[in-house]
Amino acid sequence: MENPLSICCKLCFKAFTTYQKLFVHERNKHSHNKTIPHFYSLPRPTSEQMSQYINSFIVLIKKKLGFSRHAIGKKRFSIETFPENIFVYLFKDEEKFKYSPAKHKYQCYFGGLTGENRLKQILHYDQWSFRQNPLTNTKGYVLLEDYENTYQVKFIWSQTVLLENNRKFTLGRMTCNFITDSGEFQEK
Ligand SMILES: [Zn+2]
Repeated sequence: MENPLSICCKLCFKAFTTYQKLFVHERNKHSHNKTIPHFYSLPRPTSEQMSQYINSFIVLIKKKLGFSRHAIGKKRFSIETFPENIFVYLFKDEEKFKYSPAKHKYQCYFGGLTGENRLKQILHYDQWSFRQNPLTNTKGYVLLEDYENTYQVKFIWSQTVLLENNRKFTLGRMTCNFITDSGEFQEK
């Protein structure tokens, strides 16, 4: 058994008797935390590795874009094997990046036209957020801003751990949540 007092906040080193108390502490004291205490252990990905995952992301988000009524609304997809260091190096410098050491979970949001443009830079692709019907002027797109509101694209990275036969197996997963819409656009 682990010593109960060894449940420790990795950000301020306060000790707790249960994980539940640590989660509450983290939510109250470090809800916008960007510090990654184990950052030194995450190797910097090569640009080939980065573009491999960016390409996967673009393929999967485009699959969620369509031209009919069914293509409109809240969408989500996951990349089931997504390395932690790729997520961290993609998003760590973003304003809306945050990390929970207690849950070993990262989140990053992009909102409005600012977010859309920032993702163009990160993904190195200006057309990441829409798909054009080749036959008409209809576009399916990720909704980030309309006349009334701004909307978010949310990226989450989390880990599943399996302990078996004194071995630890880990699976990192990236999930993306967003809203889609479609409509007709005249050529500019
Ligand atoms: Zn703390």
